[in-house]
Amino acid sequence: MLNVYPWQESQWQKLLFTLQNDRFPHALLLSGPYGIGLHRFSQCISSVLLCRNPVNYIYSCGQCKGCHLYNAGNHPDLQMITPEEEGKQIKIDQIRDLIDFINLKSQFEGYKIAIINPADTMNWNAANTLLKTLEEPPAQSLLILLTHRQNLLPVTIRSRCQHVNFKPVFDEGTLNWLKCQLADPHQAEQLLAMANGAPLAALEFTKNNGVDKQLMLLDDLESLQRKQIDPIKVAERWNKSGANQIFQWLLLLISDMVRLKSSAKPLRLHEAKAITRLQRMINGLDLCGLMMCHDLILKNYSLGTGLVSYNTQGLLEDFIIFWQELMDQQRG
Ligand SMILES: [Zn+2]
Repeated sequence: MLNVYPWQESQWQKLLFTLQNDRFPHALLLSGPYGIGLHRFSQCISSVLLCRNPVNYIYSCGQCKGCHLYNAGNHPDLQMITPEEEGKQIKIDQIRDLIDFINLKSQFEGYKIAIINPADTMNWNAANTLLKTLEEPPAQSLLILLTHRQNLLPVTIRSRCQHVNFKPVFDEGTLNWLKCQLADPHQAEQLLAMANGAPLAALEFTKNNGVDKQLMLLDDLESLQRKQIDPIKVAERWNKSGANQIFQWLLLLISDMVRLKSSAKPLRLHEAKAITRLQRMINGLDLCGLMMCHDLILKNYSLGTGLVSYNTQGLLEDFIIFWQELMDQQRG
């Protein structure tokens, strides 16, 4: 039986309340940071709605034909739309297929469900095409849109969905959950901090050396400051390892620098050694420069992942040049 994650319980209960009271929406927008479990949440909704005998509206029974088909991954009343290639856009033809699908009669006289993930990768034409179905949804249909960057979705789309938002979580219950998943529970607090309160991302860090990679980014920023490495080669390497992730980590690092500069404790880096390195890097830098740096990363991150395709290596080079200039000003 599929359950929502512990930190999703309040959103889950609210949604169930609308289901029990016959006020379930036709479109849901699930948003939150990467690693908060949007996909699992959408699976739980789908499995309950497609079950023929849900227990108290809350759990799928696991026994009926609907549940068997769902668990086998081939329920005919459920469709999932994702970009055809990773990192690319969802195209208009995919949305047209989705609309055809959702308008066909359900095979089990129940719900028709379509999940769009990530919804912010729909290009303008695709988003516009979806709009009409959002305005006039067929009976017993549900569209579930998933996004980690809801601000990239057109307002027209956002305003036609019931919004379920998930914020970063740092509470005791989540920490305990994470501790149970880790070989070394003592790492939980540091990992959750570095993953900015996204427990699944924290877990992923243990598998893909996320913490070490973030510290390597710090190495690169230091080497760039000392002009010990070729900026173009750094951009190339960052781009190869995934520009999105690098932009997110840069944002977290710069946020910590801004906090240090304002005499606040860094939120992501806990290790005293790493904090000393940050402190050394920002000595002589003013808050305004750091804020400009933060804004530039945010802008380039949005451009690199938005509806229009930009060259992400160019966007990373843009940041690196700005960073080095900032450091030169500090020396000068
Ligand atoms: Zn069932």
